[in-house]
Amino acid sequence: MNSRCLQYQLTAALVCALAFTGTIARAAEPPPRLVLQITVDQLRGDLPGRYLKHMGEGGYRYLMDHGIWYADAHHGHANTETIVGHTTLATGADPAAHGMIGNIWLDRLTGTLVYNIEDPTCHTLTAGSGVNKATEIDPTQKVASSDGRSPNAILVSTFSDELAITTAGRAKIFGVSVKDRGAVSMAGHAGKAFWFSKATGDFVTSSYYYDRYPAWVDAFNQQKLTKAYDGKSWELMHDKSTYLFGDADDKPWETALGSYGRVFPHAYGPATGKYFTTFLTLSPAGDELTLAFAKALIDAEKIGEDEVTDYLSVSFSSTDYVGHMFSPSSLEAEDNQLRLDRTLADLFAYVDKRVGLKNVLIVLSADHGGPEAPGQLNSLGIPARYVMPQTWNQEPGIAALKQKFGVGKELIEAYRHPYVYLNREVIREKGLDQAAVEKTVAAELEKLDGVALAISSTALQTGNLPDTPLLRSVLRNFNPRRSGDIFVVHQPHCFINDFDGLIVACTHGAPWSYDTFVPVVFAGGKLTGKRVYRSIETVDVAPTLAALVGTKPPSGARRGPLREVMEGAGK
Ligand SMILES: [Zn+2]
Repeated sequence: MNSRCLQYQLTAALVCALAFTGTIARAAEPPPRLVLQITVDQLRGDLPGRYLKHMGEGGYRYLMDHGIWYADAHHGHANTETIVGHTTLATGADPAAHGMIGNIWLDRLTGTLVYNIEDPTCHTLTAGSGVNKATEIDPTQKVASSDGRSPNAILVSTFSDELAITTAGRAKIFGVSVKDRGAVSMAGHAGKAFWFSKATGDFVTSSYYYDRYPAWVDAFNQQKLTKAYDGKSWELMHDKSTYLFGDADDKPWETALGSYGRVFPHAYGPATGKYFTTFLTLSPAGDELTLAFAKALIDAEKIGEDEVTDYLSVSFSSTDYVGHMFSPSSLEAEDNQLRLDRTLADLFAYVDKRVGLKNVLIVLSADHGGPEAPGQLNSLGIPARYVMPQTWNQEPGIAALKQKFGVGKELIEAYRHPYVYLNREVIREKGLDQAAVEKTVAAELEKLDGVALAISSTALQTGNLPDTPLLRSVLRNFNPRRSGDIFVVHQPHCFINDFDGLIVACTHGAPWSYDTFVPVVFAGGKLTGKRVYRSIETVDVAPTLAALVGTKPPSGARRGPLREVMEGAGK
């Protein structure tokens, strides 16, 4: 053996030993006992910072001081709606892969509109807890034809699914939210989900998850916590003069739904009132009820009690409803954030007491951001307006189609923003070229008021469009079984605000930055406070959780883990 060979052998042995020590060190690092994933519906990335001055300790401040806060995080898909964003956070996949391309889509086989997580084979366990179409203000919920709910339409695995696989089913996995889709998406296929029924005022689940309610859920619902709000009002937490929007409570673009009104105090009315539970969801009360249910769940299910990593997702919906009704720049939105800050502080303190924050990995993000009300922007000289498809003059477009293809409006099956669905039967019968029809319809749509772009799905699929960030986000939203034939993008700061007759202040759903911009923050364990300004995407969240806990990435994950979080955790 010559000396070079000996040197090589020694080096190899040293490398081996170092690698071995490394493995030992990593193995000694226990995984978190609990992954607590918080999603704040419609929390645009700038909002926590905007109201930070009046926030207390232990909530957002805890996350900012102790967490790795990504200040330039965006959703990478175009249709920034609730189910799309939640499922993206849960799976690390784009809607093209996970399949949740919108809150609703047209089922080509049956010709009916489908609500994302509806499943007629999995009934809700409480009779009468489905959507009450007479009082429901969420237009997408109204589409559901049954009270059944399940994650069966999610086409890839979630992080929570991967956790179930890795722990041989021993991890306890739960999703909680006021919104059914905020709970079901995050719990994945292997977990269990609970959501708030406005019809009964209870937290409910479906037969996908349980044959009957666990005793603790019955006990929780028997407390009838909603009664505590009977005859009460949502009142400001602090003196009005201390708020950024203290002198802007009454603005004409705010929605006045029934007796709830446009200004503080917002009265919930009697518990027997038709809109009582709806009003609770349009206020911080919705988040407070969600917190109460999450605490009961943590206790009853002994979350985080043993060394097997558990998963709890809590999706807070009030910020979304308040944003829709009053806009994110309103006194209501400001007070709601201050109250959510207290709700978060309460949750973190509770988890600290039960599990210890050093044993918990917290991740907080949002399913989408949100726009400002056009009236608010106009008052500052910034162009913005509502889009009203009902006022569009369709005649010239229809005439153009007739002239070219011999048929006019029969070619259009449905327009449920953002997608226009063409009637494929008519296209087939007339022997027309799908791509040519899409191109003509798109060109006509682009002439209409408020439309910035109309994008042909065939052109996207065949690579016949330039590779721009916006078109890439539309492509990421395209699933051939569910997406429509043309994706409509409104001008920036322009959107439809008609919720099936209810005129609201704001609607998200655009690929513009105010709708894609969300916070992403990881905290707990060994992580220490850091603000990161490099650009990241929400698809990075699930693979980061997977890498931290040691599962494989979810099946449709597009990217890898976030290096700042991995380094911060000593990985
Ligand atoms: Zn919304």
